[in-house]
Amino acid sequence: MEGRVIIVGGGLAGLSAAAMLTQHGLTVTLLESRPRLGGRAGSFLDTTTNEWIDTCQHVGMGCCTNLLHFLKLVGVDDLFREERELTFIGPGGERCRFGDHIGPAPLHLAGAFRRLSYLSIGEKWRLGQDLSRLAHPHWADVHDLSFDDWLSRHAQSSDCRDRFWDVILVSALSERAARISVPAARNVFVDGFMSNRVGWRVYLPTAPLDEIYGQRLTAWLMSHGADVRTQAGVQRLEEQNGEVVAARLRSGEVIAADEFVLAVPWHRVRDLVPSSLVDHPVVTAADQIEAAPISSVHLWFGRPVLDVPHAVLVGRLGQWVFTRAQSLNPQPSTLSSNLHYLQVVISASHELAAKPQAEVVAAVVTELGEIWPEANGASLVHGRVVTEHRAVFSPQPGVEKLRPAQQSPMANLQLAGDWTQTGWPATMEGAVRSGYLAAENILRRMGRDASLVQAELPTSWLAQRLFGLRDKRP
Ligand SMILES: Cc1cc2nc3c(=O)[nH]c(=O)nc-3n(C[C@H](O)[C@H](O)[C@H](O)COP(=O)(O)OP(=O)(O)OC[C@H]3O[C@@H](n4cnc5c(N)ncnc54)[C@H](O)[C@@H]3O)c2cc1C
Repeated sequence: MEGRVIIVGGGLAGLSAAAMLTQHGLTVTLLESRPRLGGRAGSFLDTTTNEWIDTCQHVGMGCCTNLLHFLKLVGVDDLFREERELTFIGPGGERCRFGDHIGPAPLHLAGAFRRLSYLSIGEKWRLGQDLSRLAHPHWADVHDLSFDDWLSRHAQSSDCRDRFWDVILVSALSERAARISVPAARNVFVDGFMSNRVGWRVYLPTAPLDEIYGQRLTAWLMSHGADVRTQAGVQRLEEQNGEVVAARLRSGEVIAADEFVLAVPWHRVRDLVPSSLVDHPVVTAADQIEAAPISSVHLWFGRPVLDVPHAVLVGRLGQWVFTRAQSLNPQPSTLSSNLHYLQVVISASHELAAKPQAEVVAAVVTELGEIWPEANGASLVHGRVVTEHRAVFSPQPGVEKLRPAQQSPMANLQLAGDWTQTGWPATMEGAVRSGYLAAENILRRMGRDASLVQAELPTSWLAQRLFGLRDKRP
């Protein structure tokens, strides 16, 4: 077997597979249908301000060990900053500082939890008990129940859905408790907040995503010998004698290789797999995966509005608001250099689809004015809503059965993408994990046993003792 690999899809799954395989000396051709790399973690040019704007703010966390490894591997980790403090703004405008303190997990966040002043002491007490129950593997080992049902059956504080559970879950999984499986909800709280001191910390890009995953990564891949081809949409993979032999491009060009990685979203798979796989259960299962939408509201004000870099908004339409330094844009227009940009993220935005953009912008601006009165006097120069209808897969009960392993039914074809089996929800971490797993499989087929997937963060001794958790590291 030789080492020519074709990767279809230049999102984080394809990019991470490409990076690992070039590192191991394989000849990689990356085929991406769009003009730019990055996939869903991308940017667009706002023609009014002539600025590159991220389609949506992308947030990484300390528990994303593979994502952080990948950013370092390809030398773009300098374009992220670690945030050790968040601001939660309660329904009545209460400002609550959220940061870790000394002590092992989960004690490190006890102070932050105490400071959530929009929850009563009784609610916090009950939430503490529910979180502890959720962390215990015994109580949470139910795959066919929605988290909403679990809260109703096992928890004492289901009344805190809107002000606690959904605040965290909607941001992490882009769905509300009623459309989230118990294991998916449990992973968010346990891996993110309860088992390690740094798992919850937030990583934010300090440059447009297009600069990070597009320009910088393209340069890195090419300098490591990869052939990166954008505007190279694949029509279908071609097979011969039960193996994939080539990728046929929409242009008619046919490129042969020895190994293939199909790193496209689940709803593109049927069109691209070799024809003998079209009716395979793996493909029909993928067709049943449901999507969840995410909207981002982009606002340009005539003067500064926020007095914090970002905030989590509790009990409002907008869930996170982020400012962004103007200096991030390499060539701001005269208009944009005088404007102050904000982005408000609305995950699980199912009900927004039918609403006119102007109505959504007005609702979000009114909310900002309730929290920051400065917004009332600041003129809104430009506003737009971007909705990704198939932003992520919906982590509903039963979805795990629909997610395939990276090794496809054809020996020399790997599937990759945040939707494949990674143990993670649809995130950048999940995408990178899938790319590493696909690369591992290819190397193994070549007789090279490389372990590429990074270890989880260690589970603190206290979390092990309190909740009966195991340390997931090998
Ligand atoms: C609005 C929004 C907000 C998000 N926020 C966060 C966040 O804060 N944190 C987080 O961790 N994750 C977030 N995510 C999820 C994250 O973006 C995805 O999980 C991740 O980027 C998926 O990467 P991927 O490589 O699996 O898929 P994709 O990024 O979808 O990449 C697939 C690529 O395949 C290409 N392709 C498709 N068909 C073809 C073809 N025929 N030929 C060639 N190429 C093709 C596509 O153009 C695309 O570039 C968000 C997603 C969205 C949409």
